[in-house]
Amino acid sequence: MKNLIIGSGLAVGLILLCCAIGFAQTDNTQPIAGDTMGAVSTAESTPAVETAAGTESSQENESVYPLSPERKDLLIAYSQFNNLWRFVSFGIGIATLAILLFTGLSARFRTLAQKIPKRFFAIWVFFILIMLADYLLNFPASYYRNFVVEHDFGFSNQTLQEWLIDDLKGLGITLVIGVLPVWFFYKLVGYMKRWWLAFTLGAIPFAILIIVVAPVLISPLFNDFTPLEDKHLESEILTLADKAGIHGSDVFQVDASKQSTKINAYVTGLFNTKRIVLYDTMIENFSLNEIRFVMGHEMGHYVMNHIWWGLGLFVLFMLFALWLTDLIIHPVIRMFSGVFKFDKLEDIASLPLVLIAVSVISFVFQPVDNYASRYMEHQADIYGMDITGVSGDDAAIAFDKLSVYNLSDPNPPEIIEFWFYSHPALSKRMAFVRSYHPEGS
Ligand SMILES: [Zn+2]
Repeated sequence: MKNLIIGSGLAVGLILLCCAIGFAQTDNTQPIAGDTMGAVSTAESTPAVETAAGTESSQENESVYPLSPERKDLLIAYSQFNNLWRFVSFGIGIATLAILLFTGLSARFRTLAQKIPKRFFAIWVFFILIMLADYLLNFPASYYRNFVVEHDFGFSNQTLQEWLIDDLKGLGITLVIGVLPVWFFYKLVGYMKRWWLAFTLGAIPFAILIIVVAPVLISPLFNDFTPLEDKHLESEILTLADKAGIHGSDVFQVDASKQSTKINAYVTGLFNTKRIVLYDTMIENFSLNEIRFVMGHEMGHYVMNHIWWGLGLFVLFMLFALWLTDLIIHPVIRMFSGVFKFDKLEDIASLPLVLIAVSVISFVFQPVDNYASRYMEHQADIYGMDITGVSGDDAAIAFDKLSVYNLSDPNPPEIIEFWFYSHPALSKRMAFVRSYHPEGS
């Protein structure tokens, strides 16, 4: 989905924070079930489109759905590219951080930043330098993936300037918010042995805060969120929301077509900011019953508190990842201290190494997180069927459209689904809704 908070170039670099932020928008009916790559790219940067695209895309509708042979070729090409890119982008992310270490650049940035007497600001300057260097090193790959490829497959009409502005906004937000976990991290590392435990506990309120404010302070920097414009659709959804025990005012539509033609919906926020968001691209291309089913699915996440469950899982995962980092990072620092020009974890110059460790651990263990996520998605599918009472065919068409419009592979290789998919493969979801008989029917 469109989580712009962290440009993908920075994504690897920001796992500590990303975890927190990623959850801000974690759940969407991500048609692109495969699009998330665990904590890292839950915060994928936004592709985008220009506003005038609305009229164009409605003219194209006929040719987009149902799947034509030409579009099928496109779907296969896009899926294969994405599967390959999961590894390529991971490799690039690690390589750019490694460059910062092995060239001694990280140590040089630290020496420079330490001229500032106040430690918090020294860390902030160091963090900004590291992130800017990482952004620049990642830029070619990020530009290629998020601008060139998204254009090639017809998702984005955004001009280079518009895309760049969104990307830089994401970077700016990272530079401002990201310093807090980094500062907290180095405060603890120099102070106690079990810093990984303390950091995780301290990260909980921070993560909650980010999830609470993201829908109202961060997302609006990129898009407009408004009440549903189609009044008939609104009354249908309000009826459904009422049945689910949700306040109608918690349902928004977003002008996602500004960035991309991709179709989606998601649940986000906590407490007063908890809400369901529906893409305008879905309103334009889905029938009423298809939208009702998708909304029923999202309401399932909403009433089953999946954001809290996701946060809980994330906390456990972070605890494990940091504990493991502590276990392996010290010998590595000792081995390369001559090259890295730092000899202990407490030195802020170690930041790129910490990020590498957490990235690798997240990459390796993401099947665990994704397994839990797929389970919750399945629960939401069941809820959607139960509460809406739509036919299995209508629900299956919704999935089929997500696949066709978003060029999402309905039948990914099992290993890819197991490792990377936060949602069950669309073919499995289609088979399920076709065979499922809702309660009372
Ligand atoms: Zn979902």
